[in-house]
Amino acid sequence: QPKNKVCIVGSGNWGSAIAKIVGRNAASLSNFEDRVTMWVYEEIIEGKKLTEIINETHENVKYLPGHKLPSNVVAVPDVVEAAKDADLLIFVVPHQFVRTICSTLLGKIKPTAAALSLIKGFDIAEGGGIDLISHIITRCLKIPCAVLMGANIASEVAEEKFCETTIGCRDVMLAPLMRDIIQTDYFRVVVVDDEDAVEICGALKNIVAVGAGFVDGLGYGDNTKAAVIRLGLMEMIKFVDVFYPGSKLSTFFESCGVADLITTCYGGRNRRVAEAFVKTGRSIKELEDEMLNGQKLQGPITAEEVNHMLANKNMENKFPLFTAVFRICRGELKPNDFIDCIRSHPEHM
Ligand code: NAD
Ligand code: 13P
Repeated sequence: QPKNKVCIVGSGNWGSAIAKIVGRNAASLSNFEDRVTMWVYEEIIEGKKLTEIINETHENVKYLPGHKLPSNVVAVPDVVEAAKDADLLIFVVPHQFVRTICSTLLGKIKPTAAALSLIKGFDIAEGGGIDLISHIITRCLKIPCAVLMGANIASEVAEEKFCETTIGCRDVMLAPLMRDIIQTDYFRVVVVDDEDAVEICGALKNIVAVGAGFVDGLGYGDNTKAAVIRLGLMEMIKFVDVFYPGSKLSTFFESCGVADLITTCYGGRNRRVAEAFVKTGRSIKELEDEMLNGQKLQGPITAEEVNHMLANKNMENKFPLFTAVFRICRGELKPNDFIDCIRSHPEHM
């Protein structure tokens, strides 16, 4: 039986945390090759290449400092080289970069490979709609793509604090392979077949987290934040119902749903930067650059992608929270207007 080779496409905060798990599992499972390649978008840190630092010290000193990666995880600066023999490609880059990476990989991967996407966000589609990132991967690379989303703040996962995650995978042959390379005693996996809803939950909760950051910045209390979380959840459910009918309500009760929404609205980067946006009056871009040391926000651009579709379909008023987050990030509305935007939410009518 040939062993499965794994490549992790990405090495940011979450990419590095998952590399720790995947590296250790690959080394201990008999159906996986020990060596795991990890594509690193090369940069120079204090005069030295990040790939060299990772391969010598086994630490991603920029994106996950203080945590050792298993020594069988090998940093590779060329994505084609990293991915070329892989049977399983784990995509974990900020979503704005996925299209470029897929076009670079086109025709350069094993035709029998499968993908698992950990990426939260959408892409703008032709004709006024949006695309799911996993659908882009499947369409560009002509391989199946499952998704993994959950209440998984990377630093806590790296510290091995107990949590759960959700894998959305319709292919019953692939699902056990995906679960085995991911699951540990502190990182528990539930597999569901509702792939699209799992991914949409992961993307949309980042918009809600920006709203949660706004109310934190404005000095509202826990009740207000709970209202934002609940109204956000109702918009997430409606969004799936309207645009991806046939999904299951039960998916929202998996880790990818309510649990990820809660953790991100309390402990995430989107919340933190949105709070600073309100308190300082500076732009999201400036704050992202200054506060996150190269890590990337997904919420504000996801709000833009979602608004592109809602505006096109004349449905902004059906999703007032998503719409208000978008307009406030753009500077079209003041953070102070946020509560007014959701005061007469369709849920209250
Ligand atoms: P990150 O926010 O740490 O982003 C930094 C990464 O982007 C670095 O590896 C950097 O090299 C890379 N990068 C910068 N410019 C690039 C370019 N032009 N092309 C390609 N790559 C470039 O990344 P992350 O935290 O690993 O997030 C990846 C995905 O995982 C996102 O969709 C995010 O929502 C999701 N996610 C993150 C967390 C978390 O806690 N960090 C948890 C769950 C899911
Ligand atoms: P942030 O990007 O807001 O930190 O959210 C991380 C996340 O997706 C946790 O599951």
